[in-house]
Amino acid sequence: MPRDPLIDQSQAARLAFFEQKRDLFQELVAHGQSPKSLLITCSDSRIVDAGLMGTQPGEVFVVRTVGAVVPPYGTGHRAVGAALEFALAKLAVRHVIVCGHTDCGAVQALDVSLDQQMTPNLATWLEILRPAKTSVDARHSFDDPYLRHVAIVEQGVLMQLRNLETYPLVQRALEQQTVQLHGWVYSLETGRLSYYDADVGQFVPEDAG
Ligand SMILES: [Zn+2]
Repeated sequence: MPRDPLIDQSQAARLAFFEQKRDLFQELVAHGQSPKSLLITCSDSRIVDAGLMGTQPGEVFVVRTVGAVVPPYGTGHRAVGAALEFALAKLAVRHVIVCGHTDCGAVQALDVSLDQQMTPNLATWLEILRPAKTSVDARHSFDDPYLRHVAIVEQGVLMQLRNLETYPLVQRALEQQTVQLHGWVYSLETGRLSYYDADVGQFVPEDAG
């Protein structure tokens, strides 16, 4: 059996990372994980959850989907639901975050027609996101395509938050006020977040810091 070059290439970094956090890992194995947050974000390679949230191992439970899409409850897509149920029922997370991002290929793909033969799963999956584009295009016309893109990303996050609320476990947790939902958009251009402020009904940038 030939050696796996990917394992060889990453070994030094992996072991250095582990050594730095050896005590933390031993603690987390001995007592189990108890993350406070579930982060639902895009599969995009440019998003690194520790970079996004400044978290250590054990602090955030993560599920990634193409486009940070959350399928509504009962639609037959079970991966996100399984992560949600684990996070809420077993880990008792206090926060569920949906984080979209700029320059999102999933959102860009809504403007092209995907090959149903070649990418049938992707094409079907992105239909869950399509109402975000349809609703933005119906309400606004943008001179700047970047602003349109961000508006669709934001609308997509809002719709995924609504989809989250279709899960009975989420409804119960919201009623019992044991969980808070958060909608974020991560700017790949600036490294900054904006977040949905329900009081003002729009996304607002994080403080300049
Ligand atoms: Zn993306």
